[in-house]
Amino acid sequence: MMQIYRPLNQIGFVYREIRQGLADIEAMFTLLDQNPEIEDKPDAPPLEITGPVLSFENVHFHYDPDRPILKGVSFTVPAGKTIAVVGPSGAGKSTISRLIYRFYDAIAGSISIDGQNVSDVTQASLRAAIGMVPQDTVLFNDTIAYNIRYGRPDATDEEVREAARMAQIGDFIDSLPHGYETQVGERGLKLSGGEKQRVAIARTILKAPPILILDEATSALDTHTEREIQSALDTVSRDRTTLVIAHRLSTVVDADEIIVLRDGMIAERGRHADLLAAKGLYAQMWNRQREAAEASERLRVAQEDP
Ligand code: ATP
Repeated sequence: MMQIYRPLNQIGFVYREIRQGLADIEAMFTLLDQNPEIEDKPDAPPLEITGPVLSFENVHFHYDPDRPILKGVSFTVPAGKTIAVVGPSGAGKSTISRLIYRFYDAIAGSISIDGQNVSDVTQASLRAAIGMVPQDTVLFNDTIAYNIRYGRPDATDEEVREAARMAQIGDFIDSLPHGYETQVGERGLKLSGGEKQRVAIARTILKAPPILILDEATSALDTHTEREIQSALDTVSRDRTTLVIAHRLSTVVDADEIIVLRDGMIAERGRHADLLAAKGLYAQMWNRQREAAEASERLRVAQEDP
């Protein structure tokens, strides 16, 4: 019996190791969303940033030639400013962030950082310059400390803690029995969407990139969590060139410019107050979200005090 048991046990061990390895690789690929068709040009130079200006010039893009997604989009995020992209679901907002990170190349037009086309520089240097807080953060099957330190592997324990505090997740981590050594991911503690996003924000705070892309989670968060995340995002985006892909309009009120995307084109642009005054698509979206928020607040109060 033992003769059979031992190899079987070993196979089980190897299988678990492989599975763990796969989970990490999967997590990494989802994180990087690698598209094997995207390659560095021969002798591509690294991106060199002195003033982190991000520009889209007449960008066209489709996943499938029969269905254009972006149809001539132009905008500039000046160094240190925050631009928000809003618009109905499926308008092409997240596609914009994927093009900046070069998961795909634009079909026409150009995307540049500090005057260098993102397709001409090495992907490694491009991705080193960009901090991405994605909609759904995939955590590695490892400790919380490892997941935060991934932003800058040589960060000290104190720097990891400081980043967590700035991302409004420090108190939560301190309250766990194993603190920063708590295992998370598939095999460990399952974190909520809001907690995972704050781990991603802490990671980005450590990375301190010149350019930041925040792809807000679509899923509804409770008001308290939303406020904490907003405050964490404000910290990380201060004085940094930031593009916010926003699904909730409450997060864009203070943006230096708001771009309203509809059917792959810019339908309106301006600051919050100007767009409200224009009484167009943005004003409609704003009123609808406000009514929905008020209705859910009324429901909450009624449930608490029947
Ligand atoms: P939401 O607010 O719902 O997140 P969005 O404005 O961010 O929407 P995108 O994710 O940019 O929208 O998608 C734009 C369109 O492109 C959608 O219709 C979507 O179905 C399509 N799309 C997105 N990713 C792919 C893909 N990998 N292959 C084919 N089509 C895709």
